[in-house]
Amino acid sequence: MNSEKKETCGNIKNEEKDSLPSCEDFEKIAEVLKQLSDPVRMKLFYILCHREECVLDISTLMGMSSPAVSHHLRQLRLSGLITSRREKKEVYYKASESRETSFLHHMIEDLLDIKCPAKN
Ligand SMILES: [Zn+2]
Repeated sequence: MNSEKKETCGNIKNEEKDSLPSCEDFEKIAEVLKQLSDPVRMKLFYILCHREECVLDISTLMGMSSPAVSHHLRQLRLSGLITSRREKKEVYYKASESRETSFLHHMIEDLLDIKCPAKN
């Protein structure tokens, strides 16, 4: 008797195992969710889903110092959730346009049970 077989219920077929997405496939989603696991970054992302803003205006909206906001913006930008654009001396941030960000934007509104201000 194979002791390994004894530990399972015996319902798993190899084809099923092979048809599952790989852990690498899930890693991209895990990285995005890791970014949004911080409520401050989630709020920043949510704000930037509706408007393009500079660090100082975002700091005012968030009631936080601009260095603290910059730190979170950098992480969000590295994960691809937001993009930045420089205009003269100012840098503006907004949510990236992708299926992923659109889904997360609407997921936040769904879970918070709020209407998208862009649709009012
Ligand atoms: Zn919205």
